[in-house]
Amino acid sequence: MTFAPRLDNVETSAIRELFKLLGKPGIISFAGGFPDSAMFDVEGLREASQKALAEEPGGALQYGATEGYEPLRTQLAAFERSKGVDGLEPQQLIVTTGSQQALDLLGKTLVGEGDKVIVEGPTFLATIQCFRLYGADVQSCPIDAHGVDVDRLEAMIREHKPRFVYLIPTFGNPSGALLSLERRKRVLELAVKYQTLIVEDDPYGDLYFTQEPPPPSLLALSKDVPGSREYLAHCGSLSKVLSPGLRVGWLVAPPELLAKATMCKQFSDAHTSTFAQATAAQYLKSGRMPSTLANVRKVYAERAAAMGEALSRELGDAVTFTQPQGGLFFWARLRGVGGKISDAGEFAKRAIENGVAFVPGAPFFAKDPDRSAFRLSFATADVGKIEEGIVRLARAI
Ligand code: PMP
Repeated sequence: MTFAPRLDNVETSAIRELFKLLGKPGIISFAGGFPDSAMFDVEGLREASQKALAEEPGGALQYGATEGYEPLRTQLAAFERSKGVDGLEPQQLIVTTGSQQALDLLGKTLVGEGDKVIVEGPTFLATIQCFRLYGADVQSCPIDAHGVDVDRLEAMIREHKPRFVYLIPTFGNPSGALLSLERRKRVLELAVKYQTLIVEDDPYGDLYFTQEPPPPSLLALSKDVPGSREYLAHCGSLSKVLSPGLRVGWLVAPPELLAKATMCKQFSDAHTSTFAQATAAQYLKSGRMPSTLANVRKVYAERAAAMGEALSRELGDAVTFTQPQGGLFFWARLRGVGGKISDAGEFAKRAIENGVAFVPGAPFFAKDPDRSAFRLSFATADVGKIEEGIVRLARAI
């Protein structure tokens, strides 16, 4: 069969190949990017879906507006305002089928063959693939534990004049990195100075482990940097805090871009499932979200702490890592000293032989992969399994 030439730009990921091996009995997996199913608020979602059917069966089961179900847009705007996004109105966002669709719509509306897009190195793999599908020449800007290197970013914006810059400022996937407040402001200033769109992907911002929340999102901070809102798109998601199966995300963007994205969404899925949207709207209205968030933060914080301690204890001399302050991931590097293994792909195979799985880091780079890096998720294994899994990793080294 002959396929569209755009598919030549994309290959199936090495990670998928690895996932095939995960079915082995007894494997402890740090590989997935999933939240823990045991933490879904099933009772709350059952009530919300029943209410959606009882109170507005027409809205919940009929075709709906492409922009999204109005009561949900209202709730999502309020949710963003509760996190410091001043004055956000429901019509300034559209509901998307997961934030993944928001990213796809941005690719579709903004990227043509050969256009440059800047992402972080490393970044969310599906985004690199999605932008490439539209012909993007994806450039990679280095990061450290405080997020993207802003000086390099400025130089790259000057050099490449990208269609946009895609960032995960808060607890990145796979990096776990948190962009500092100072760098956030500078990113917004760069957006204005170079009239360059910044895409903020923020599925993990609510999953912080500290007493105080992390620095505000770029969307919330944009009020402090005059003119920056015009150059900012923000993707939100209920996937990591409530349920990925609901497929409810949202896109906040300047009016012209939002209109084009809505037009493209119409041709793509007409609208996000009205039943899922009505359920999400009822859930947000029910007032259960704050305690759900408190619960997931507590459980993931315990698991992250356990993983950090086990890594230091068992692998302290073989790997380097930064303790994440939120999100779902540790990003680590093999030191490769003393004749020990330095290639994370090779290490992943050995780990599976020893009954533990994780994802090697190289595929998360659009350019110049770091082959010593790897990602460990602490989301789905309990503390006992995390400790056992890290012992197995030490054995594999
Ligand atoms: N962005 C990032 C950084 C992610 O890690 C994910 C999910 N792994 C997504 C977007 C997509 O999430 P969803 O479509 O479920 O909202």
